[in-house]
Amino acid sequence: MKTAFNNEVASPIQRQAMNESVNGISNRWSAACEQATGYNPQSLGYSMNITSPNDSYLTSIGARSAIQGSSITIGHTADIPHELGHIPDRVEGKVKADTVIAGQAVCTDQTLEARADSYGDAIKSAYDRLG
Ligand SMILES: [Zn+2]
Repeated sequence: MKTAFNNEVASPIQRQAMNESVNGISNRWSAACEQATGYNPQSLGYSMNITSPNDSYLTSIGARSAIQGSSITIGHTADIPHELGHIPDRVEGKVKADTVIAGQAVCTDQTLEARADSYGDAIKSAYDRLG
C-alpha cells in the first residue's frame, strides 16, 4: 500500500506537540494563555512546578497555588488557568506588594484576583478548544 508521505516536500512542518512542555508549562497551556491574553508564558520565561497543597512554600504563605517572579507553583491543578491569568497584570507592572506574610511580600489586591479569575476562565476555554 502506498502512503501520501513524501520526505522531499518543499516546506515541511516543524511543530511542538501539545503534550510537550517547556519549564513545566505544557505547550497546550501556553498556547491557551497566548490565545486568551496575548501573552505566551513559555516565551516570557515562566516556569511551572506542579506540587501538592502541602508544599512547604505554599503553606508558608497560606496559599494553594501562587505566582512569584517568573515561577508558578501549583498545589492543585484546577488553579493553573487562574495563575496563568495573573501574567498580563504582572507583565504590565500592575502587581504591587500590599502585605507581608512569613517575611514574603504578597499582593492581595482583590481587583487583580478577580481579573485573574476572568482571564483564567478564558484560558480554560481556550485550553479545552485546543484539546
Ligand atoms: Zn490569584
